[in-house]
Amino acid sequence: MGEINRITVLGTGVLGSQIAFQSAFKGKTVIAYDLNDDILENAKAHAAELAQTYLDQVPGATRDDVDGALGRLSFTSDLAEAAGHADLVIEAIPEVLKIKEDTFTKLNQLAPASTIFATNSSTLLPSDIAPSTGRPDRFVAMHFANRVWQFNTCEIMGTPQTSKETFDAAVDAAKQIGMVPIPMHKEKAGYVLNSLLVPFLNAAAELAAGDYADPTSVDEVWRIATGAPLGPFQIYDIIGLTTPYNIMMAGDAEQQKLAAWLKSEYIDKGYLGLASGRGFYDYSTQ
Ligand code: NAD
Repeated sequence: MGEINRITVLGTGVLGSQIAFQSAFKGKTVIAYDLNDDILENAKAHAAELAQTYLDQVPGATRDDVDGALGRLSFTSDLAEAAGHADLVIEAIPEVLKIKEDTFTKLNQLAPASTIFATNSSTLLPSDIAPSTGRPDRFVAMHFANRVWQFNTCEIMGTPQTSKETFDAAVDAAKQIGMVPIPMHKEKAGYVLNSLLVPFLNAAAELAAGDYADPTSVDEVWRIATGAPLGPFQIYDIIGLTTPYNIMMAGDAEQQKLAAWLKSEYIDKGYLGLASGRGFYDYSTQ
């Protein structure tokens, strides 16, 4: 399998914008695709913000590095242009199977036969999506974590049809863009990270919603007793409360009770997490 130099990222939302900028930062030629020019204008502005974030938070990052990244990053709402020369297409569009299927079916008509397709889906299995790609041997999941420049894992998960060459190429590509690849031997909903994180965050919510202890105390115990840098409620704030809420709502009756608590005590008050200035903690004065 050839070198992966040209990467296309579908979707310029939370994760797509980060994957695109990170790939360009590490020297790849990147095209970011989204539905229309208004969205792309926002995406361009967001890329400039990410450049500043990298300057502030990535050790050793220079103005030349981030300007280089911006120079290698282009934007289009034309799927044919986005797909036409890509070595690797990473999909980061909404977590709705039908939208992903339709997009991959179109993409398959437009991308070279050699192009590898990857999904960043958090909750769908790659075998749910594989039939729509028309190239299941060249399809794999590459699951990034929010804040790719800092939390740089990339969980790589194939289906039984994914070729070894494709899997290995995804592992290599992940390394080349500065990720730590986590190869998975077989499919598992939630990969490694969410298989651990979701029960952990639920257990923390049970403690606070059941009024056993304050969120701040739960976090303190976890930090002090395990040496972890962040407690579960600090992690909730970084993720944003809406995603855990949606995951809980899809769960059993106990989880839906936790969802109702999260909604009435936090989400309905506009406490959506770090990005909104307040979640379990108040960031407005920091
Ligand atoms: P988001 O809602 O922030 O962004 C989705 C983007 O896709 C938007 O820019 C939207 O305009 C665009 N879009 C919508 N329909 C499209 C289409 N048909 N074609 C192309 N673009 C389209 O979503 P997100 O949080 O970045 O999540 C995207 C994917 O990444 C999901 O599969 C999600 O499971 C996964 N993911 C998210 C996170 C996270 O922390 N947010 C972490 C890991 C993986």
